[in-house]
Amino acid sequence: TAAPETRPFEADVAKLLHLMVHSVYSDKDVFFRELISNAADACEKLRFEALSDASLMPGEAPFRIDVTLDPEAKQLTIEDNGIGMSEADLSEALGTIARSGTKAFMERVAGSKEAEGSHFIGQFGVGFYSAFMVADEVEVVTRRAGSDQAWRWRSDGLGTYTIQPVDVAEAPARGTRVTLHLKDDAATYADAYTAESTIKSQSGHVPVPIWLKEKPDAEPRQIADGAALWMRPKSELKPEDYTDFYRSFAGQYDEPALTLHYRAEGLHEYSVLAFVPESKPFDLFDPDRAGRLKLYVRRVFITDEAEILPRYLRFVRGLVDSADLPLNVSREMIQESPALAAIKKGVTNRVLSELEKLADKEPERYLKIWDTFGPVLKEGLYEDYGRRAALLSLARFKTTGSGSEWRSLKDYVANLKEGQDAIYYAVGTDLDRLLASPQLEGFRARGIDVLLLPDHVDSFWVTGGIEYEGKPFRSVTQGLADLGKIKLTEGEADSADVSDEVGGFIAFAKTVLGDSVSDVRASERLRESAVCLVAPDTGMDRQLERLLASAGR
Ligand code: ADP
Ligand code: MG
Repeated sequence: TAAPETRPFEADVAKLLHLMVHSVYSDKDVFFRELISNAADACEKLRFEALSDASLMPGEAPFRIDVTLDPEAKQLTIEDNGIGMSEADLSEALGTIARSGTKAFMERVAGSKEAEGSHFIGQFGVGFYSAFMVADEVEVVTRRAGSDQAWRWRSDGLGTYTIQPVDVAEAPARGTRVTLHLKDDAATYADAYTAESTIKSQSGHVPVPIWLKEKPDAEPRQIADGAALWMRPKSELKPEDYTDFYRSFAGQYDEPALTLHYRAEGLHEYSVLAFVPESKPFDLFDPDRAGRLKLYVRRVFITDEAEILPRYLRFVRGLVDSADLPLNVSREMIQESPALAAIKKGVTNRVLSELEKLADKEPERYLKIWDTFGPVLKEGLYEDYGRRAALLSLARFKTTGSGSEWRSLKDYVANLKEGQDAIYYAVGTDLDRLLASPQLEGFRARGIDVLLLPDHVDSFWVTGGIEYEGKPFRSVTQGLADLGKIKLTEGEADSADVSDEVGGFIAFAKTVLGDSVSDVRASERLRESAVCLVAPDTGMDRQLERLLASAGR
């Protein structure tokens, strides 16, 4: 066979490897989950491709993952009979970091103190490269389904890897074998008890059965049955089962903050298992970040690009398994099928109604979710008019009067001041600055609560005539905010009586400012500050004006 050829990793991979291996990250166990989930993904990819090309899977060998331990040689092997990799797949998949956003993320954290601390790395998921946390050499032998050529990839994780063709006799008949030469301090992973308990706790619910051989010459025994967890009745499942599934399925390291598991029956039949994560993914605001709900048809993975949920629910992880979509048509056709449209609608409504239920029954738990994902959910207020009412009732706000508490609009509207007929809000870039704004003085003096809107998306949804229970939203910077109708709280003097002195000043200011302002007025709204800028009643909100100016429009 040809001599191995040495190729460099993309520069950032070397940095990533170093960071991982040298971080104090204690939970090395995750390498198992990463490699087993790759093996399961490979089986699912083949299951899908074989739908249109049966020759890829002659003889119907059932999918399986085999883990073989060799404690004496300090070696561990994970083998699957999935899709396998061609030479090009190998260098593309294992020579670059595959996950989108990973590179940008690495550039941001590499060398920073946080990275050393490393929960960070744990949260973000490290994929195939996690193998180098426990191994000083990793060998991959693979043969793509339908190909008569096999390849060996090898690396010590320090900066380069080699690829060479190998004899098919040395490779799995189809699929991939990953062999880890364990480091001394990780040799226990070749130990039957450690391996079995780690795999079961982390990957016990992957949809492909897992077999374990305790020694190279031992008999394999099944340690996980590969049954689809989402098809099992809820009553049989424990919270730990869901957590394990969530972690191995979504590659997450946190707990689910909310789990939805149900079966829709009637016109369209489908099962849903979906999770709201506890923590924010690092790419939540990356414009390329797609939704994360995978589509299955009768247990066969079809695509994760079906956009089942709207963008403002892109943090939800999980899957929908349909019983009545056609299996043997293109992904594009599925996209257009009426059954999928019904699923989209049904699942979206259900996610929102489950959130609403949680908000009602367990407000503490709900507020954690709002705290983490509120800025994303608010995008729905202008993207999804049809569900605006539902989203407004999910929305929570910090207000001038709420301190650090979140307030709902229902609560706000139930406590309007006499004469107050609008929901007042102030848009800005952060809470502290908003709280210090002179625009709020007149509202405070009247005991009127003002919603504080510090998020980027806020400038977008509050415009456009939005209402809640018949009350319009009104910016405090807009002249319309007519405070004259509302009584001052006792002990506050009325500042808006225009004395001769103030009248004189106004005339002077108008002369000096000329065309650069449209009007100068005495105002109800200031208490301690002498002057402030306001937008005209009918014009753009000040904050939006600034935003557009900074976007160069
Ligand atoms: P991710 O799984 O998030 O894509 P990984 O780093 O875990 O990232 O894997 C990178 C890529 O390597 C995968 O997307 C896949 O293309 C390929 N790969 C890894 N393991 C296998 C395997 N066992 N069989 C086939 N392809 C694999
Ligand atoms: Mg992976």
